[in-house]
Amino acid sequence: NTFADIDLGEALNQNIRRCKYVKPTPVQRHAIPISIAGRDLMACAQTGSGKTAAFCFPIISGIMRGDQFAQRPPRMPRMAFPLALILSPTRELSCQIHDEAKKFAYQTGVRVVVAYGGAPINQQLRELERGVDILVATPGRLVDLLERARLSLQMIRYLALDEADRMLDMGFEPQIRKIVQQMDMPPPGMRQTMLFSATFPKEIQTLAADFLSGYIFLAV
Ligand code: AMP
Repeated sequence: NTFADIDLGEALNQNIRRCKYVKPTPVQRHAIPISIAGRDLMACAQTGSGKTAAFCFPIISGIMRGDQFAQRPPRMPRMAFPLALILSPTRELSCQIHDEAKKFAYQTGVRVVVAYGGAPINQQLRELERGVDILVATPGRLVDLLERARLSLQMIRYLALDEADRMLDMGFEPQIRKIVQQMDMPPPGMRQTMLFSATFPKEIQTLAADFLSGYIFLAV
């Protein structure tokens, strides 16, 4: 019933203590073990429910314990190969997730980068060039990076869609589909997907059916 009871790896557990998180919130208590077990997940989660940690902890923990670092293709100049992608609807939310994820990933060797639209792309490109494990991004800017051939989604092992209903309301469905299509290009990867949404209209259920496999539905 505390974070100490969940085996997330010592470095991450230490950062969780540093953030003064002791007891998981309901969505964390249920979502984290499901994701650690490698299952896809669709979760009902409102703002303030602690959903950021719910998808960040399994991603950071998974990257730390995996051998993905070793599997990375030889460094290609100017091309970034993140292992995890977190999509969110707005610049504000992306920056918020980035700030939190950086605290959770402190001294783990896991590098987190953010990319969002409505701001010059050059600084973001420089950050990507320095290496990226977890990329937090808005869908439009992400497509832009793909079209500029500065980013490959070939190594993505974890995909989190945050506030999926809001992303659809904002008209990002074509971009999201384009992004996921890139991940599904052969050779087939081992992608684990987490979809978080406050509401579950038919459009979200369709997205889940298309992007998730054998998923667990969580409503807390
Ligand atoms: P979120 O829903 O992810 O935006 O989180 C809402 C707020 O709750 C943020 O300020 C988090 O830092 C905080 N928070 C999330 N999980 C916990 C927890 N288990 N214990 C204490 N604070 C938390």
